[in-house]
Parts: sequence; C-alpha cells; structure tokens
Amino acid sequence: MNKLSLPSNKHKLLLHSCCAPCSGDIMKRLIDSDICFTVYFYNPNIHPYEEYMLRKEENMAFANNNGIPFIDADYNPRKWFELTKNMEWEPERGKRCSTCFDMRFVKTAEYAYKNNFDIISSTLGISRWKDMSQINRSGEYAASKYPELIYWTFNWRKENGSQNMIETSKDEQFYMQEYCGCVYSLRDTNIWRRKNNRPKIIIGEKYYSHSNKKSTNNKKPYQAEPSKK
Ligand code: SF4
Repeated sequence: MNKLSLPSNKHKLLLHSCCAPCSGDIMKRLIDSDICFTVYFYNPNIHPYEEYMLRKEENMAFANNNGIPFIDADYNPRKWFELTKNMEWEPERGKRCSTCFDMRFVKTAEYAYKNNFDIISSTLGISRWKDMSQINRSGEYAASKYPELIYWTFNWRKENGSQNMIETSKDEQFYMQEYCGCVYSLRDTNIWRRKNNRPKIIIGEKYYSHSNKKSTNNKKPYQAEPSKK
C-alpha cells in the first residue's frame, strides 16, 4: 500500500474518530505512513450511553495499544438533541446528519486550533453508508472557522480501504455496531428490521470475527452504571 502524506505541508493531524471499526485500518495506515496524529473522540450523538461507552472504550483501547494519543471529549447529548430538534424524522444522509457532523467537527476544529494541530479529518467517511461530499462539506466548514486550519478530504475508501476496514475489524474482533449511532437511526433500523422479519438490535451483542458464526460475543461488553444511564 502506498504511503500517505498530509496535504499542503501540514504536519500535525487531529483525527476525529467515531468508533474502532471505522478508525482501526485508518490508524494503521497513518502509523505505517509515519504521520503524526492524535485521535479525537467526540460523538454525543451516540445513544444509548451503554453503546457510547462500548464504542469509546474499544476505540481508546486500540489507540493505547498502538501508542496513539487519544482525546476523550465530552458526552453532551442534551446539546445534540437541542441542535437536531424537529429533525427527528429526517432520513439518513439528510439535514439531521449535516447538523450532527457540523457539531462534531466544529468541536474537533476548536480543539485542533487551541492545541496546535494544523489539519483535521474524520474516520466517518470510510463507511459506504455515508455521503462523502456531505462529510467533506461539514469538515471544511468547521476548519474554515480557524485560520490556517484545513480539513483533509482524503477518501479513506481508496485502495481497498472499505474491505481492509472489515479485515482489521475481524482481526481485532471489534464490536459491530448495527446502526449509525443516534436514537433515530436505532429506531429506523429497527423499523426496517421489523418489516424484513429480522430481530431487534441488541446492544453489545455482535462482534466481528473471522469465523462464520453470526454472533461472537467473546468480549465482555461494557456495563453502564445505572446512575449514568
Ligand atoms: S444517522 Fe448518524 S450521522 Fe445522522 S444524525 Fe444520526 S448519528 Fe448523526
């Protein structure tokens, strides 16, 4: 695989990450390319809290195991719900998703600016379910708020990126989230499943695996404390 390099002579990347499966192979490519980067986890869209912790803790463990700095930002779902008010029935890739990306990337850009990063990007674009141009628009909008900061619009799906992401997830036996993240995507996925005679999503149930088993719950899922739910 070709080595990557940061554009425009930038040298310090803050990588917004949504989860371990999306970021795992990207992180490996950045490490192999000797790019200096830090992972920034800011995803107050994720619901419920148990799912949020599963995604975050797994992402954090993978970063730690690879010696990559990991910034654990706030979980402020109330603000996310305020911003997406009246967009509850927007389809995926619609207006609500732009608001969701904007919220996450603006905070990423702010942290980058205050901490001397000169370029930001996000792992969100590796998913084939997402609209790359919608993500890039939000990223560029966020970066434009700060002088000299740019958003790296690199297409992570290139050079077999989407397939490698799945292979890395299987190697690492990452948790397999089955919906985008917010309560509305959970609702809509379950509606689709009901119509297609499939069972409801169970949080913490499925993990990637090289075996053909449907579900391998071989990691201990995070147990949320009742007071935090
Ligand atoms: S579907 Fe995904 S991107 Fe869209 S609002 Fe929900 S969590 Fe955010």
